[in-house]
Amino acid sequence: MKKSRFELFDALKNLFNYRNNNQYFHSQIVYEIAKINIRRLLPISLLIIALTLIVFFMKLFEYEYNFYTFVFFVLLILILIISVFIILFEHKIQNSDMKLSTLQLIYRTYWFLLILLIAALYLIDAYTTEKMASLFAFYILLATIPILSFWEIFSLLVLPNVLTGFLLYFRIITLRETIFTILIYFLVSVFLSVFFYNTFYEHVRTKQRLLDLNQKLEIISITDPLTGVLNRLGFDQSFRKLWTLPIKPKTLSIISIDIDFFKPYNDTFGHQKGDECLMLIALALNLVFRQHSICIARTGGEEFAVLLSDMSDEELLVLTNNLRNEVALLEIEAGNKSVSEKLTLSFGIASHEFSKISSWNELYERSDHALYQAKNAGRNKVVMYKEII
Ligand code: GH3
Ligand code: MG
Ligand code: MG
Repeated sequence: MKKSRFELFDALKNLFNYRNNNQYFHSQIVYEIAKINIRRLLPISLLIIALTLIVFFMKLFEYEYNFYTFVFFVLLILILIISVFIILFEHKIQNSDMKLSTLQLIYRTYWFLLILLIAALYLIDAYTTEKMASLFAFYILLATIPILSFWEIFSLLVLPNVLTGFLLYFRIITLRETIFTILIYFLVSVFLSVFFYNTFYEHVRTKQRLLDLNQKLEIISITDPLTGVLNRLGFDQSFRKLWTLPIKPKTLSIISIDIDFFKPYNDTFGHQKGDECLMLIALALNLVFRQHSICIARTGGEEFAVLLSDMSDEELLVLTNNLRNEVALLEIEAGNKSVSEKLTLSFGIASHEFSKISSWNELYERSDHALYQAKNAGRNKVVMYKEII
């Protein structure tokens, strides 16, 4: 059987979304890895400072002074400055919203300069002592401490390998030794690096997926699936979150809204039409309150509530009337026409000073009480809760 055009469209859309999701994950993972790399610079910087200081004082008395030793000491001081900079600012870099490219530039420059220094150290040392083991150890370090992708480690290692090639020029090591050194060190470093990078990539991807899934579940758990506004749990959470804000509101208001004669509406037009009606009301609520409220929720079957801050009674009444007008424009036929030909709403409004609110229920019960009075007064009414002192 041929697939319908809609099915095909859906399939294409899913494919596109899947790609988009993967793209999103990839950039998230690369960013996370860049942050881990920055974090790892801190202990390495401490170690490098200690080592460079030791080398500095050892070589200070040992070397003859010429151009090469001058370059060596300049590089040593440079890496010291960068390490101190990393120690001082690592925390700030970590907590800033730096772009990925900036983060990458920082850790790549660091490792590049470190490699350059070690390669120079190696060259100068090899020139006199022909030591090689230290370089191999450094390559292993380089392959295992930073998390570098194939192209990163490859491009970082090109220069020291070219420098190693210079040893051949100076006839310090033989051609066989040079090729052996370059190939073995290079291959081991690249292999280890890529191995660690892939392991990390998988690890971070799993973590990101779990976080993403968790976030989606959290959103689902606080959203009403029919209307898309918050459910009772979401409303409760928004209310509680207010206490964690750095700047608190002065007053808090709840508008409780209930559809009049909704049972007769369902009985007359059917449950399906009832659901559509709930969606339309939620749409009207969003239209009127989205910009002015903390949140909008469906707190029960055909009951909604809006949480607002720092609103005067007049402003609350204006917004409530706006909603009534929006609903009137929808021209939904009433199930019971004893009050009106068209579907109407009843409102209960309660406000209180934020600092004097002890619990969520207290304010909600007051608005509910006002709503009850609106119903008793004949429906399609707005009642404001007034404290009786
Ligand atoms: P009142 O004016 O006093 O509020 O009368 P009412 O009929 O609106 O109130 P009542 O509490 O008696 O009825 C609420 C109705 O809302 C009953 C139920 O069938 C309907 N309802 C609750 N949840 C849903 C829903 O998700 N979809 C639909 N279609 N109807 C719902
Ligand atoms: Mg009702
Ligand atoms: Mg009700």
